Amino acid sequence: MLRLFLKTLKTGVITERQKRPKDSELERLGIVVKRHIDKHFSGSLAIREIDAGSCNGCELEIHALNNPFYDVERFGIHFVASPRHADVLLVTGPVSRHMQTALLRTYEATPNPKWVIAVGDCAACGGEFGVSYACCGAVSNVIPVDVVIPGCPPTPDALLQGLLGLMKKRCNYSAYFYQRE
Ligand code: SF4
Repeated sequence: MLRLFLKTLKTGVITERQKRPKDSELERLGIVVKRHIDKHFSGSLAIREIDAGSCNGCELEIHALNNPFYDVERFGIHFVASPRHADVLLVTGPVSRHMQTALLRTYEATPNPKWVIAVGDCAACGGEFGVSYACCGAVSNVIPVDVVIPGCPPTPDALLQGLLGLMKKRCNYSAYFYQRE
């Protein structure tokens, strides 16, 4: 035990330091997002994440939104366990045939008005996988999509930008969104 302890002391910290200079940009973006959430979603935006067949690269970036560095809860963004509590569906793809029915049912279970964001190149267009006997390709081939966030995978900053894009669209086309109910 003592040997291990001494070795740890001798080795020191070997991980890379977290770069923090973009904090101000993140903060600025978060404040704008929060302002829109306060105005249009009564202070809190509930997101249900659905993995419709991704490689989990997109999920890693989505998980990062909740880590202590990004901490998007402070901007009023919450991830929920049920589509019945969600305003927004965040879908990663491509949509495998096995997940097609589950995705449709999740969409139907989400209360109106609801918005769908397709996250990542696979969700946007099927990516490497395209459409095949095992794959439906893009999320928009299965359910209506309001916003696409491209990237393989998109960064947490890009995800926040995409959410902001959704809210701006919501602002500009609120009549259109309510018609969809
Ligand atoms: S976009 Fe890239 S990271 Fe996301 S599911 Fe497709 S291959 Fe994986």
